[in-house]
Amino acid sequence: MAKGKLIVISGASGVGKGTVLKRMMELREDLTFSVSATTRPPRPNEVDGVHYYFVTRDKFQRMIDNEEFLEYDEHNATLYGTPVGQLEEKLNCGNVILDIEPVGAANVRKKRPDATLIFIMAPSMEELERRLRSRGDTSENQIQMRLERARWETEQTVWYDHVVINDQVDACAEEILNIIANKCAEE
Ligand code: 5GP
Repeated sequence: MAKGKLIVISGASGVGKGTVLKRMMELREDLTFSVSATTRPPRPNEVDGVHYYFVTRDKFQRMIDNEEFLEYDEHNATLYGTPVGQLEEKLNCGNVILDIEPVGAANVRKKRPDATLIFIMAPSMEELERRLRSRGDTSENQIQMRLERARWETEQTVWYDHVVINDQVDACAEEILNIIANKCAEE
């Protein structure tokens, strides 16, 4: 029986999920993150094996064929997947966070009904749009695509275990840490 809990966290692009996850790690050093594989190229400052395993489509396909993924999905013309081997190792040491979108979250739920699913939402669609625009590096076309995707993702929140509003980063991080602590206290 694994020592840790499997925690899935989703949230639309622009919601500030990365900042909340970073804050959670600062508050609780014992949290571990699952490192996904992806076929997209690394962004500046992203490190292979830390942020993602950056792999070719061929390599990703071989990993699918070898059943190396707990789940995988293609969005934005990119494949993303959760390698199952490292996940089991990490779960043996403690709680593990999976940062994945709703299709992946639904697939995790099917395979691991014990997982806790948490969705981070912006206070409103208007605020999400404001945050997306304030980045200043996203084209109008991309903003509209992300808002469209965010509307769809928001409809998926009904089957998540918890929905947390990211109005203020510290409060949001602490709320998620409390959910995890309560889950651990259940047994
Ligand atoms: P980004 O390319 O901006 O790092 O991530 C884009 C989206 O892919 C995010 O919503 C993120 O949660 C999702 N994602 C990252 N890793 C995985 C994964 O292993 N599986 C799935 N299904 N989605 C992932």
